[in-house]
Amino acid sequence: MSTAAEHLLDWLRDAHAMEQQAEKMLSNMAERLEHYPALRHQIELHMEETHAQRQLLKGCLERLGHTPSTTKDITGRLMAFGQSVTGMAMSDEVVKGTLSSYVFEQMEIATYTILIAAAEAAGDIETQRICELILPQEIAMATWLSEHMPEITFAFLSRDADPEAIAKR
Ligand code: MG
Ligand code: FE
Repeated sequence: MSTAAEHLLDWLRDAHAMEQQAEKMLSNMAERLEHYPALRHQIELHMEETHAQRQLLKGCLERLGHTPSTTKDITGRLMAFGQSVTGMAMSDEVVKGTLSSYVFEQMEIATYTILIAAAEAAGDIETQRICELILPQEIAMATWLSEHMPEITFAFLSRDADPEAIAKR
């Protein structure tokens, strides 16, 4: 049996690992994208937000007397998923990357929704406030991706049909 505060701490660590992975994924994707400037720009904007989110989570952990545990961060169960995105060598990597990024944002939305409830249950008002600040950023990124998916798909398909153009990234 564990207290709400203990679960909150554990989940904050998971969230920190998730954001660490998000930073890696986003930067890999932004670096590779050449022919999709709007997507690349949006990813770069969210990279900055993601970096700030990770700092905020680190602050929450430190306030509770803990530092983000690097062992857990590195062996996190979210890793396998991220690697499927970062090791992109697929001929349709822009489409797969968009899809995976959207799925990742949904995981982040769920993570912060759970953290907000857990922080409330544990009476940790500061952590609750911070997670309530981050959640809308994840929702906004998921919404942007979802709204731009058709456009990215059309652009990919048209570039892929053109023997002169590079479509994949
Ligand atoms: Mg995030
Ligand atoms: Fe995000």
